[in-house]
Amino acid sequence: MSCHSESSSYRGRFAPSPTGLLHAGSLMTAVGSFLEAKTRGGEWLVRIEDLDTPRMMPGAADEILRTLERFGFAWDGSVEYQSRRHALYRAALDALLRAGRAYGCRCSRREIQAVALHGVDGPVYPGTCRGLGLDAAPGLAWRLSVEEAGEIAFADRLQGAYAQQLPRDIGDFVLLRADGFWAYQLAVVVDDAAQGVTDVVRGADLLVSTPRQIWLQRCLALTTPEYCHLPLLVNAAGEKLSKQTLAPSISADDAAGQLRLALSRLGHPPPQALGSLSEVWSWAHTHWQLARVPKGPVLM
Ligand code: GLU
Repeated sequence: MSCHSESSSYRGRFAPSPTGLLHAGSLMTAVGSFLEAKTRGGEWLVRIEDLDTPRMMPGAADEILRTLERFGFAWDGSVEYQSRRHALYRAALDALLRAGRAYGCRCSRREIQAVALHGVDGPVYPGTCRGLGLDAAPGLAWRLSVEEAGEIAFADRLQGAYAQQLPRDIGDFVLLRADGFWAYQLAVVVDDAAQGVTDVVRGADLLVSTPRQIWLQRCLALTTPEYCHLPLLVNAAGEKLSKQTLAPSISADDAAGQLRLALSRLGHPPPQALGSLSEVWSWAHTHWQLARVPKGPVLM
């Protein structure tokens, strides 16, 4: 167990989206965030990110939790579901509107595509509706202005220094979509703060989202947690494992073998002699060191 003063306040989380079942890549993220929390004497929460209803797979949330249990993960507190937390997101959007940071936007995707420059994560919204003061209406999206954000820089605990010029690289981004769904960026910031998360350990595909989340934290006067982006698991074509790339779901039938594989991919190959799930876990708890984890990506 590491240093006390540091460890007593650590709170991490694993936040799967139930658009599919756990696959080998999400298992790596769960293993890394869990071990990082536990070896620092911290808590580890599980939050189900089930906001984008049309993309949800029925039954996936329960199945994910059951699989985590069978792998031997134990979370602190009760599981939170984003679908039950709309009031918190609404309050955050209202605060941003009152502060003059958020605004309604009626541009269609096609209108934006036609004029926008390409940024680091899609088209950079040109700010067409900023300053129009549009009132709430069906089909309106709500965006956050990044006009005053400038450069957002942070030190990722694994990936190192990372920075974006938000106005140039990203542009004003969506908080509440025109179809009525809360955007991931807003929900994740509100929840991490409301749940007292001190350390976000997640997949490196979300590195590109982090400056947006830090800007949101600044606009909402929230503390910025530490960030650590774990290596992505990619297939031979270099694509992230996901439902879109047809990643097979993992089964807990061979939990010890799957755990060994996840640990090896995270730079911690367990000795051959360890056979059982609990032996592998206890070895992992003793040997886990973030410094041994590769930045990735890791080939499947
Ligand atoms: N729900 C996101 C995912 O499954 C993770 C969000 C996060 O960890 O910030 O990719």
